Amino acid sequence: MFPRQAGRRLPPIPPDVEDLGPHDVLRVALTALGRERLALSASFGPEDIVILDMLAELEPQPRVLTLDTGRLPEETYRLIDRVRSRYAVEVEVFAPEAEAVEAMVREHGPNLFYRSVENRILCCDVRKVQPLRRALQTVDGWIAGVRRDQIATRAQTPKIGLDLAHGLIWKVAPLADWTEAQVWAYIHERDLPYNELHDQGYPSIGCAPCSRAVEPGADPRSGRWWWEQPEDRECGIHVPPSARDGG
Ligand code: SF4
Repeated sequence: MFPRQAGRRLPPIPPDVEDLGPHDVLRVALTALGRERLALSASFGPEDIVILDMLAELEPQPRVLTLDTGRLPEETYRLIDRVRSRYAVEVEVFAPEAEAVEAMVREHGPNLFYRSVENRILCCDVRKVQPLRRALQTVDGWIAGVRRDQIATRAQTPKIGLDLAHGLIWKVAPLADWTEAQVWAYIHERDLPYNELHDQGYPSIGCAPCSRAVEPGADPRSGRWWWEQPEDRECGIHVPPSARDGG
């Protein structure tokens, strides 16, 4: 896929996008940017599966990006295979730079993240943030499964905003105003594949060493980087805020 052209102007974001449901948000983004320049960035959480299911109804060959950090649970790899079969999509895998991983692990050890927030942010930067930056060089807009009620830093997420951190591209969040219950209702109604770890008490799944099961009714994000303070528990991928105007 070709890198983004410098200086390319994107279409303006429609002013009424906040009134639209997820299918129409996706339709607006696909129409404005085109299939080649818009991709779902999937970690294969339930929101990503819902979005892929909707997207596949609009575009039979949607672009799907994923970051293989090298520390994902085996269950996530199994899910990726099931999704590839069900939707017949090619999943574009972006891995961290081998040299950066080698240098980090040589200096800090393989499980550096447990020792400090700085180490954890370094690991997320090498294994997630930098690969995502490379992946997003190939698009003019990305689709993310973020919802406003997941964590305080996502409370203002627009359905389509400008992503300042990744070069003023569109960031599309079709499920921004959905609840977790709506997501799971959609999954069960349509019998969509999902990560089997959810049935073992994992509400939110990232890398294996940084995700764990939680008690029923606990904050769904509390199983991610559970040894840190809640306000530190973001990996740097979803940088708030994205501006809504301009284009
Ligand atoms: S979630 Fe954990 S293992 Fe994965 S990149 Fe971040 S710190 Fe590293």
